[in-house]
Amino acid sequence: MSGRRSAYADQAKAATREAKQIASHWATLAGAEHRPGLANPTSTRLVRELNMRITAGLPVCRHLTGGPGVGFWVAWKPERMRCARCAHDVLAATRGTREDGRCDGCGQVVDLIHPTLLQGGSVVAILGLCGDCEAGR
Ligand SMILES: [Zn+2]
Ligand SMILES: [Zn+2]
Repeated sequence: MSGRRSAYADQAKAATREAKQIASHWATLAGAEHRPGLANPTSTRLVRELNMRITAGLPVCRHLTGGPGVGFWVAWKPERMRCARCAHDVLAATRGTREDGRCDGCGQVVDLIHPTLLQGGSVVAILGLCGDCEAGR
């Protein structure tokens, strides 16, 4: 039993490592900033919301049910934790739409949205913030 538990811990550790790599890799691709910590009140609030959802039993996509893996949380589609592929589908579906310019902090539609990635443990949160929310104004 302890063997199984440590295998789980190893998997969880590997998932955390992978999440870190993915977050910085995606950040490079998207021109987004990868922030290991919490930089502004809006991000802090959204992460708190995410934690509450996880505690309440946030559903996961069908690809994530097999144990610890990297989970992606897209702030504008917050009802589910997703695998990389499903998260990518959400991003692709949003691109070029009006929702693409909507700030996840204040809900305003702006011309320039700042894609932001936050990584904690094996979870990568993807946010789009307006200039004001991004700067913590
Ligand atoms: Zn999936
Ligand atoms: Zn905003």
